[in-house]
Amino acid sequence: MNAFLIFGPPGSGKGTVGAKLAAVTGVKHLSTGDIFRGLSPASESGKLFASYAGAGKLVPDEVTIQIFSRYVNGLVDTNKFDPEKDYFLLDGIPRTVAQADLIKSVVNVKHVFVLDVPDDSVIVERLLRRAKIEGRKDDADESVIRARLKEYETKTAAVLSAYDSSLITKINGNQSPNAALRDTLGAYLMVND
Ligand code: AMP
Repeated sequence: MNAFLIFGPPGSGKGTVGAKLAAVTGVKHLSTGDIFRGLSPASESGKLFASYAGAGKLVPDEVTIQIFSRYVNGLVDTNKFDPEKDYFLLDGIPRTVAQADLIKSVVNVKHVFVLDVPDDSVIVERLLRRAKIEGRKDDADESVIRARLKEYETKTAAVLSAYDSSLITKINGNQSPNAALRDTLGAYLMVND
């Protein structure tokens, strides 16, 4: 399967930019956070997700890859994604070096867009604001936000070194969502002309 990746710390705007980029270009936006939040809270995997996400922790790799693969296979089986011609825009996966290794035999990474927000206080402020609008519990508690940032810095940032630097474009995530979209779309068109 061919995929673009969209990377960035929580609150960097990857969900918003990813959804808009997908709407403009036709790539299939797939957010693992959204997949997890769509699990039934009563199911075993739903409970497991809640226990990790509630503490700002990443779900263990094997479970993540299992749920992700099941979801992707469902899209293929129901004709919502054609691996012969469609492209994914993966948002939120891979989030560890082990996940990058586990998906590399099936996911061909065309390019990686990284939304960069170097100042943690900007992120904390954004997520606390989003908590009021979207009601996500993991956005409402500053200590959970800090734990998520730590997971990003200690586990996810290292994933970028798994990809050749020619595959990576950094986008300024400090700007407005439209400006970040413009820059991401520009980078997408450069690699996909
Ligand atoms: P997000 O919406 O991308 O911020 O994800 C919300 C939560 O879902 C994260 O804090 C993790 O608990 C979990 N999650 C999403 N994607 C992954 C992943 N690839 N690996 C492990 N946990 C994940």
